[in-house]
Amino acid sequence: MTENSISSDLLVVGGGIAGITAAVEAAETGLTVTLVEKNSFIGGKVAQFNQYFPKLCPPSCGLEINIRRLRTNPAIKLLTLAEVTKVEKQNGKEKAEVKLNPRYVNELCTSCGECVKVCPEERPNDFNYGMDKTKAIYIPDENSYPARYVIDMNSCKGTSCNKCVEVCQYNAIDLDDKEKSITIEAGAIIWATGWEPYDASKLEILGFGEFPDVVTNVMMERLAAPNGPTKGEILRPSTKEKINSVAFVQCAGSRDEDHLEYCSSICCLSSLKQAKYIREQYPDAEIHFHYIDIRSNGILEEFYNSVKEDDKLHFHRGKVAKVIKDSSSDKLVVEAEDSLTGNLMQNKVEMVVLATGMESTAKKLPIDKSLVDEMGFLKSNNDELIGCGVSTKPKEVAAVVQEATGSVLKAINTIRGN
Ligand SMILES: Cc1cc2nc3c(=O)[nH]c(=O)nc-3n(C[C@H](O)[C@H](O)[C@H](O)COP(=O)(O)OP(=O)(O)OC[C@H]3O[C@@H](n4cnc5c(N)ncnc54)[C@H](O)[C@@H]3O)c2cc1C
Repeated sequence: MTENSISSDLLVVGGGIAGITAAVEAAETGLTVTLVEKNSFIGGKVAQFNQYFPKLCPPSCGLEINIRRLRTNPAIKLLTLAEVTKVEKQNGKEKAEVKLNPRYVNELCTSCGECVKVCPEERPNDFNYGMDKTKAIYIPDENSYPARYVIDMNSCKGTSCNKCVEVCQYNAIDLDDKEKSITIEAGAIIWATGWEPYDASKLEILGFGEFPDVVTNVMMERLAAPNGPTKGEILRPSTKEKINSVAFVQCAGSRDEDHLEYCSSICCLSSLKQAKYIREQYPDAEIHFHYIDIRSNGILEEFYNSVKEDDKLHFHRGKVAKVIKDSSSDKLVVEAEDSLTGNLMQNKVEMVVLATGMESTAKKLPIDKSLVDEMGFLKSNNDELIGCGVSTKPKEVAAVVQEATGSVLKAINTIRGN
């Protein structure tokens, strides 16, 4: 390794649960691994959940073990704020150019938090999908790894303010930090670049952006999380009051040729999980579940059956036509046809959760576009590319972990030239 280049057996792109699993599994077989993640923290979307099914454990329980394996394994080099910009094959080796974005905070940081106390600038908190703010110098969340601050230069006033630099007794802040570029040479690459939530503002009829009480499923995870914007209390966004009624709108933009044509396979279960979050806090709340059909694979069917027993959880079969404001109250009206009765239904509720699907980020990658399928996912069943996690197909965490482990076997074969 030099200052501008790294050589390892394997490069893993994406530090979500798929990429972390692939990196630790590969390193434990004896490979040297470089893991690159474009965010300032690893864990991907799982780090932003309140709990995950089927066991409903907090994200820390799965991530913590893997992060410990990663921290203690000297064969893994982790680069955060790192994005692959170009890849080419040279003499049988993969050569990746990687842009390292400045963190402005170096490894001397002890996360003491004195800098936050003096920082006068604020920014929308993207970890909580903009539902609250952080200071311009921030840690995405106290469980994030690496537990080191980062500065958002879009909000920071730089050296003209300098308060954080002056208060830091560890010399950990460098406001002149610059973007760098490095080359990583590896015998194989595993792409584990995951997904983004489908942009709900494209679903004009469902009121997202127009009515503050219409939120998305990923926002709901943060609302229920103890480290979220409301410290885990699910409150009505517009009034910050307790809630009595909620509607889940399933397939919001999914299985729809104008938006995402496919089923993301986990949205039914994630909404049922979120119905449980609501029930735990509000024993009497009325919960309406608007669905086309409920999709729960394998053992996840048991989870569905357990949630279904709730007699204040009302299932309505039929696609939602629109979400509008009620003319005589501050509630929202969810309008849908009940396809079992043929009746038009208007449910008045205080909050609406849109179950938006998972959209692959594969088309943004610097790879040959023929390696991306018509739905935007990586085609990984060929010799050209190794992918795992949601970058190849929507799936739940257990399936992601299995695929990530399998992808390591494929990488070992590639490295050995089999
Ligand atoms: C609302 C909701 C709730 C869910 N709840 C559950 C649940 O309870 N249980 C369950 O099993 N599953 C659940 N899922 C599914 C779960 O989120 C996915 O299975 C999981 O996130 C997939 O992990 P991943 O590593 O493939 O992707 P991600 O979590 O998206 O991680 C990918 C990582 O790659 C990084 N990356 C992307 N592009 C680049 C690049 N070019 N360079 C470097 N890094 C890059 C990203 O920043 C990210 O950190 C839920 C999904 C949704 C939508």
